[in-house]
Amino acid sequence: MSRFWSPRVKELEPYVPGEQPKLSKLTKLNTNENPFPPSPKAIEAMQAALGDDLRLYPDPNADSLRAAIADYYGVEAKQVFVGNGSDEVLAHIFNGLFQHGRPLLFPDISYSFYPVYCQLYNIPFERIPLTDDFAIDVSDYTGINGGIIFPNPNAPTGRLLPLDEIRRLLAVNNETVVVVDEAYIDFGGESAVGLVNEYPNLLVTQTFSKSRSLAGLRVGLAIGSAELIDALDRIKNSFNSYPLDRLALAGAEAAINDREYFAQCCDAVIAERERLRAELSQRGFESLPSAANFLFTRHRTLAAADIAAALREDGVIVRHFKQPRIDNYLRITVGTAEQHAQLLASFDARFPR
Ligand SMILES: *Cc1c(COP(=O)(O)O)cnc(C)c1O
Repeated sequence: MSRFWSPRVKELEPYVPGEQPKLSKLTKLNTNENPFPPSPKAIEAMQAALGDDLRLYPDPNADSLRAAIADYYGVEAKQVFVGNGSDEVLAHIFNGLFQHGRPLLFPDISYSFYPVYCQLYNIPFERIPLTDDFAIDVSDYTGINGGIIFPNPNAPTGRLLPLDEIRRLLAVNNETVVVVDEAYIDFGGESAVGLVNEYPNLLVTQTFSKSRSLAGLRVGLAIGSAELIDALDRIKNSFNSYPLDRLALAGAEAAINDREYFAQCCDAVIAERERLRAELSQRGFESLPSAANFLFTRHRTLAAADIAAALREDGVIVRHFKQPRIDNYLRITVGTAEQHAQLLASFDARFPR
């Protein structure tokens, strides 16, 4: 606190990101980064962009990247918005599309940035409880609202809401914007992008941070009707005209164009996820079904906090949320086979059978 702070700064409760330890030999399974490197073509494109042109501003509209994304998803370029990570895209959505004085609806167990943006932008909200088995029941989202947002697959549960359920929601909620945050959709779900031409109030967000191994580059996107994208451009151009730098534009475009490498990485993550599920199950863990690059899991007898603390002593970091309903769960990011071996060896040594 400082006397120079405005009342507004004093009352903020900022988001606390998962730990990014400075030590490099840790087995880091806590923030859902991809264990595989970015596309070699993305690295090459960024190396090529690294030169004298950096004295020039980047394209404020990111036209070339938007066109590549539009091509990948089979939509028009005017239906694509890009930003500095999907967190920034989400911030613009909250600021520009959810400001109606009516409550925004999102699940009680969900991405913890949503309530932070609500506070920042003065948006009332209502948390809708997930069912007992941590599923979203769309019939709970029919009340008066200023918008609806949920991750699909949900975070940190990993559970997928099938597309026909999203359709069912859109059929009854057509007056306010519905945002499907697809940060993890490439690890086993079907994207709602295919519905945007049918529902002008649907906005789908995605990120290059998870499935495209570019968390360090900060590129996120939204796809929806041209009128929603126009709103986001208006907000963006009132905030920062150049959210993506020249390296990010070059790297992201090469990454989205490298479909083969992308498919290989996603397949490998999915295969490792299911191997990890089986290994954990043999050790007394029960994991929720996951369509993401992490498992949400609890042990039949051991407390999650104790497991997380023990693993940490061996340099294995997993995420534990001290939050009602889920404080006995761990969220474990899918890593490489080698990282999983370290995780399991640590668990076996600390909790011998
Ligand atoms: C990781 C994540 C994001 C943010 O992704 P960035 O593009 O890295 O900002 C958004 N939503 C959910 C649910 C996430 O897990």
